Amino acid sequence: MAARFVTRFAPSPTGRLHRGHAFSALCAHEAARAAGGRFLLRIEDIDATRCRSEYEAGIYEDLAWLGLSWEQPVRRQSEHLADYRAALEALAREGLVYRCFRTRKEILAEIGHAPHGAMEAFRGGPLPPDEEARRLAAGEAFAWRLSLSAAEVRLGGFGGLTFVEEGEGPRGETGTVQASPELGGDVVLARKDVGVAYHLAVVVDDALQGITHVIRGQDLFEAAHVQRLLQALLGLPTPVYRHHRLLTGPDGKRYAKRDKAETLAEIRARGVTAAELRRELSFD
Ligand code: GLU
Repeated sequence: MAARFVTRFAPSPTGRLHRGHAFSALCAHEAARAAGGRFLLRIEDIDATRCRSEYEAGIYEDLAWLGLSWEQPVRRQSEHLADYRAALEALAREGLVYRCFRTRKEILAEIGHAPHGAMEAFRGGPLPPDEEARRLAAGEAFAWRLSLSAAEVRLGGFGGLTFVEEGEGPRGETGTVQASPELGGDVVLARKDVGVAYHLAVVVDDALQGITHVIRGQDLFEAAHVQRLLQALLGLPTPVYRHHRLLTGPDGKRYAKRDKAETLAEIRARGVTAAELRRELSFD
């Protein structure tokens, strides 16, 4: 029998966890407990260049210290590349993805002229068949991108795409939200180097793991728009979303790896107890 409430915490092992991660993990864990549901941990380690096994070990250590428990086995994305490949092939069979040989630099130059100029809002399309064949024969690397225009034709527009937001987006979005996948442009679904990318892996995993509630930070609210579209194209169920506020430090800025936010390991080393941290984060 499918559980009524299954949620997950899905960190990428690209650094040690900080307060923001602890808050997010506690939000999901406590929600599962309150609902009598299940809490899963998923390691999002498709980016072999940035992920390290010691960071993964750090995640287990930090979450256990916080007092969380999760089901075994933990799903590690790097062990399931065949699942993502199968989903990509299903999309490719329907002409919903195209090969993109462009480099990041070329795309930046191209969208530099676009009104929004955002990397994410890139929209392109397949190359003419002869040029594509020539580049393939030359062994040039390519990424697979979602074709928004093909998706739009296939679904007869995006008007029917909605998701339920039980938390709040950054602009107060809540309740039934109309998905606007065009915000993300033709997102990369399979990177040149690893053959998969974030949105595809998340959508496939959430479905395979029977996730009913996606509980994560508001920084990923826009991702729900793209992910809702992928669910529709792949015939996968749509979970309920609960985006939570982002924790900010005394300086009013959100905690982030790049700003060298104090890690849970460092907090622990200062002698702070898990109970004290939970209290600070309003979970006790
Ligand atoms: N792995 C993503 C991150 O660390 C989270 C993915 C998700 O919750 O959908 O930001």
